Amino acid sequence: MNCTYTLTIDDAGSGGPERVESVRKTCRFLESRGLRATWFVVPKPGGQPWSDDWKRAFLEGRDAEHDLQLHGLTHSDCFEFGPPVAPATRILPSFLEQFEARRAELLPNYTLGWMRAVLEIGLEEFDRELSLTPTVFRPPCGSICKALFQALSELGIRYDTGQYLNMGCYDHLGPLGGKPNQTWTDNWPRAPFRWYSEVVEVPIVGEYTWRGASAYEPAFIEMAKADVDRIAESSSVGVLLAHTHGIADNYDYAFRLFDAVLEHLEGQGRRRFATLAELAAAGALEPLPETAPGPDLLEV
Ligand SMILES: [Zn+2]
Repeated sequence: MNCTYTLTIDDAGSGGPERVESVRKTCRFLESRGLRATWFVVPKPGGQPWSDDWKRAFLEGRDAEHDLQLHGLTHSDCFEFGPPVAPATRILPSFLEQFEARRAELLPNYTLGWMRAVLEIGLEEFDRELSLTPTVFRPPCGSICKALFQALSELGIRYDTGQYLNMGCYDHLGPLGGKPNQTWTDNWPRAPFRWYSEVVEVPIVGEYTWRGASAYEPAFIEMAKADVDRIAESSSVGVLLAHTHGIADNYDYAFRLFDAVLEHLEGQGRRRFATLAELAAAGALEPLPETAPGPDLLEV
């Protein structure tokens, strides 16, 4: 299949000057390769407004044609939009206990009214500070609930990208540690699929630059190449993931990995990249006719 790839980078807006620097450095690196990223931006990091430094970095990124999209509201924890899911629970099983301990506090949030309210705050920040209207949502840590999809649908955000295909991409951490393992799930279709409230879920292929990944450089580079090949067998869209802090953990490694993937695709004449906003605008995130709707997996 003719696959177009998109590099998505999470948690912009969150953290101090060293994280702003990570965004700027990564933007310049990608621009030098003729690429633009989709940045998933936390609109009220820790409940606070963006610093002036963050605002400037976002406006610079926007003006350099990077794509800025919505990533939760405060991102203060991993339960903002639903109970914990894999692969977060695969590397940190204690998420399940943490959620159980706070279940009574958190469940009332997973309602349409609450979801709409928190999304609307994020949309207002984007509009007021950046004059942008997000079209794609990414929930922190992949946590979701049915009411989130209904709220996204009502607010005109037709695309969600939160669920992984390669569940083994963080296996160098946590109880499964030692090395990354290419472990793809069959829980959902590999191409964009229609899910709750007609919102289209665009699955994430995997992540290769999380902290500590540089210690397993050959394994991660091989896995990243294998993943970009594998997604092209069943989807016209391949969503790759990185985080501001993961890249900053070792810039040289992260940029070498990105280059290795680019060279791999280039060598096969398949180096096609676009941002999620560009793909959405072109209709390229719509499910293929043969792609089944997503399964009903959510309890809330
Ligand atoms: Zn995040």
